[in-house]
Formats: sequence, structure tokens, C-alpha cells
Amino acid sequence: MHDVYPLLKYTDFPNIYREKLDTLQINLGYKCNQACVHCHVNAGPKRKEQMSKEVMNLILKFIDKNKIKNIDLTGGAPELNTNFKYFTSQLVSRGCHVIDRCNLTVLLEDGQEDLADFLCENEVEIIASLPCYIEENVDKQRGKNVFNKSIRALQLLNKLGYGTNKKLALNLVYNPQGPVLPPSQKELSLDYIKFLGQEYGIVFNNLYTITNMPIARFGSTLVSKNQFDDYMFLLKSSFQKNNLRNVMCRTLLSIDYEGNVYDCDFNQMLKIGINGVKRNIKDIINIDKGQKISVGDHCYGCTAGSGSSCGGDLIE
Ligand code: SF4
Ligand code: SF4
Repeated sequence: MHDVYPLLKYTDFPNIYREKLDTLQINLGYKCNQACVHCHVNAGPKRKEQMSKEVMNLILKFIDKNKIKNIDLTGGAPELNTNFKYFTSQLVSRGCHVIDRCNLTVLLEDGQEDLADFLCENEVEIIASLPCYIEENVDKQRGKNVFNKSIRALQLLNKLGYGTNKKLALNLVYNPQGPVLPPSQKELSLDYIKFLGQEYGIVFNNLYTITNMPIARFGSTLVSKNQFDDYMFLLKSSFQKNNLRNVMCRTLLSIDYEGNVYDCDFNQMLKIGINGVKRNIKDIINIDKGQKISVGDHCYGCTAGSGSSCGGDLIE
């Protein structure tokens, strides 16, 4: 795989600074039952890295000290961490709002038969990848039969009240198939609602459109296809200054499976520490407002067009 960091390191991206920390995005490990083409964490079935209970407990201490309310669990497939239920229960017992970034098919994996019920009982918000409502496109990006399994998983979640019960939010994520910007989130949402509703009786709350970042597996594929420079040109030439106000790193901290902290999940993948220094949650008491965020050319992926974050576009 191509290392794209040298291509992104030197940047003219504007300086951005932290505001009040309100969300921890915690990567529980890189193991996943899928191995999607666009994956920015190179996750897959063979990855072994997973967060230990010890690191989880250190994070819980940090949460208690800083009174963090929003916890965004990601991976890989976060549910495949053997301590996923322990950690989630601990978070819920503290009154945290927990988001599970779920790939849907994990709900149908052997040994995960009680997972959907667990998420429902703990009122965990689900943000689920479904990069298209057309079977062929999803299978091309995410693997054979992923679309049909995803539909079955969504129907299962709907049966439990996800998408209709106010306490059971179900949000979907779209990302483009290739090196292009996502279409309008608002307009695409209407297409998703109509198609998934009519064809499969599926309901959900929101659709989030996310721009593919030129890093990890997707970045490497761009290099292999000689498309990296063109994609960077697209991101840079579509820069919208207003999006700087809402980039997610201003209020979020990303933590990897070993407890190392980063300004965002993308910096985590590029191993760019806070202030360019590797720091671990066990050594950090708080995160200061006004602190400079570590940026690179990949940051243009967050500010192109309508903007992009883990919560979709950045249009206010
Ligand atoms: S994109 Fe998500 S579902 Fe696909 S391999 Fe990566 S972590 Fe797994
Ligand atoms: S890539 Fe990360 S650090 Fe850069 S703007 Fe986006 S969220 Fe912020």
C-alpha cells in the first residue's frame, strides 16, 4: 500500500483552533468483518488491534473528569471488540449519549445475535454506512452480498423501533464511489427516503454525506490509479472558507485503540499527534480551548464544497 502522508504533510491549509471539547470519538480497533475499498482505516477481518479494558477504563476516567457527554464509537467494526458491551454499558451508566458507527452487516454475524437488542436497550444511536441504495454500487464498494445483508439489518433495526422511536436514532452515511465530491445531502436524502421506503419499507432519521479522504486505502488507490493529484486539485479548488467554522476537530478528540489522542480520526490514521506530538490519554488531564489543531493537505477533504464531517455536510 502507498504511504500518502509525505504527499499531504506540507500544506497551506489555514490554521484552526480548538473550541470547547464536547465529543470523544473512540476507535475500538481495526478488526472488521468487511474490507471496503474506500475504508480510511484499512480495517478488515485479519486486523488484530483492539482496545483493552485497561485503556477503556482510562478513557472513562477522562470522561468523568471532563464531563464529556457525547461518545462516538468507531473502528473497524467497534462491536467486534470483545469489551464493546462492557464499555458501552459503562458509558450509558454515566449518562453519556453513545453513537455506534455500525456497518450493519456485523449485526448478522455469528455470535452477534443479541447485538441489535443490546443497542436498542441502551438507546445507542446508530450511524450506519449505506453508500448507495442500489445493490450493485454497494457491493462494488463494500463486498459481495453486503447490500442485501445491510437491508436485512436495517429491517431488523426498524422492527426494534430504530428510525421511529425518538430515543432510537438511525442515521445513514453516504460516500461517493470514486474521486468526486458528494452530491447535495438534502436532495440525496429525499432519494434515499423514497427508494428505501418504497422498495424495502425502511425508515431512518437522517442521511449524512461524507467526502472520501485521500488517505489510507482510498488514498493509496488514488495513487495506484494515478488520480491522487487530480483529486487533491478537486478538493483544494472546492475549498469553502465558511466550512472552517464547523470542522469537527474543533470540538472533538479522537482516541486510538492504544489510548493515543489525535485531533480527528483522519489524523489518527496518518499518526499526526496533537501539536505534532504523540500523547496518550493517560497523560492528559484536559484539552485546552484555543489549542492549535494539526493540519495537513487532507484537511481540504473537510472543507470542499458543502463540507464534510462524521455528522455529514457542514452547511449550517
Ligand atoms: S469502511 Fe467501515 S465497514 Fe468498511 S472496512 Fe472500513 S470499518 Fe469496515
Ligand atoms: S482532517 Fe481532521 S484536522 Fe483536518 S480539518 Fe478535518 S477534522 Fe480537522
